[in-house]
Amino acid sequence: MKLSSRRKAIAPATRPAAVKAGKCPICGKPQDAGYRPFCSKRCSDIDLGRWLGGRYAVPGEPVSTRTEEDDEE
Ligand SMILES: [Zn+2]
Repeated sequence: MKLSSRRKAIAPATRPAAVKAGKCPICGKPQDAGYRPFCSKRCSDIDLGRWLGGRYAVPGEPVSTRTEEDDEE
C-alpha cells in the first residue's frame, strides 16, 4: 500500500508569478519593455502578421468545381 503517494495527485495551481513575469506569447521568452507583451519586434511583427493575415488575407480554399461526372454529356 502506498497511501502516502496521494499527495502527489494534487496538481499545482497556476502560479500567478508566471503571469506577472510576462512572457512573449509568440516564443515564450521574457517580455521586453519596449515591445510588450512581446520579447522583440520580430515577435511583435509575427503577431501582427497573424492578426492581419486572419483578417484581411483570408486564404481561399482550392477551387475545384469540376467533377468527373460533369465531364460527360
Ligand atoms: Zn518572442
